[in-house]
Amino acid sequence: MATNQSEARKRAEAFITDSGPYLVVSHLHPDGDAIGSTLAVKWILEKLGKSAVLVNESPVPHKFQFLPGAGEIRSPEEWRGDAPFRQVIAVDVADAERMGKASRLVADDAQILNIDHHPTNDRFGTVNWVEPKAAATAEILCHWAAHLGVKGDRALATCLYTGLLTDTGGFRYSNTTPEVMELASGLLRHGVEPAEVADRVMETMTREQLALLQRALDTLSFSRDGQVSWMWLSREAFRETGARQEDLDGIVNYARNVVGVDVGILFRETEEGAVKASFRSREIVDVGALAQALGGGGHARAAGCTLKGPRERVEALVLERVGEALQQGGA
Ligand code: 5GP
Ligand code: MN
Repeated sequence: MATNQSEARKRAEAFITDSGPYLVVSHLHPDGDAIGSTLAVKWILEKLGKSAVLVNESPVPHKFQFLPGAGEIRSPEEWRGDAPFRQVIAVDVADAERMGKASRLVADDAQILNIDHHPTNDRFGTVNWVEPKAAATAEILCHWAAHLGVKGDRALATCLYTGLLTDTGGFRYSNTTPEVMELASGLLRHGVEPAEVADRVMETMTREQLALLQRALDTLSFSRDGQVSWMWLSREAFRETGARQEDLDGIVNYARNVVGVDVGILFRETEEGAVKASFRSREIVDVGALAQALGGGGHARAAGCTLKGPRERVEALVLERVGEALQQGGA
């Protein structure tokens, strides 16, 4: 680990000298790394004799509800105890806005420990432990737990493993490093059931999810050169299929996975009348930079942003930017 990172680790250690309670938050519409990391921090803190309150604006997606402690993650409205919190740990949160309504529980003068792996992280914390090279926030937390001398068990290991598994796309993406595999191996030794976790979080689909995929595939379009592929999901598609936000998981990959495609995009209308664009790329375009320039963020291969305006204008703007990035990247 680089020096500035071991420095960050030391500051993170100093951050948790108090007994708590610590408010632990992640990003809205949480994925496996967000939920796994939130729960991992809870287990780490509790093993150190400290208390944690877990809050997320969005409900825990069904497929992650089996994770030990998932029932403790509540919405900001459900929290009836003392607030706001002056000690906050944010995991997998690239910028404070991504906490959504959970930020209502954060005091204006709060001390925030920001542990994350997004290269676009804007260092909103008091202590910022940002490792863009880490495959998942869970990877950083594996090192933290080890350094704190926390004894691993199946509950903690399963949460960490889920973060590693989902953020590497099932150990398939380019962030699947020897370190990731070594950490995953160590977690298996603590009793993680890899087949069970993979079945629950990667293989199982709801009917609503398939119906939504069907609607998205109906709109699949390609650029003339075949390097860009995109799909649309309208608000009606959600209403008519009964699908929820969490059912979107994985749909954008179908666009990116087509032979010859570098950038796959899923556009969807949000309830607020804006358009959310999700980007996935194979190797040419850094979609994290592209999304950031459009007010969003993410990673080089997976990113997103939200844009206002009519569908046609948003689509034209995004496709123009992607076209430019392809020309620059492919040159
Ligand atoms: P997804 O397309 O699955 O929503 O997100 C893919 C990646 O991009 C995730 O790492 C997510 O955190 C990031 N991302 C998606 N939308 C936004 C956004 O509006 N702002 C930022 N900063 N990151 C985003
Ligand atoms: Mn992550």
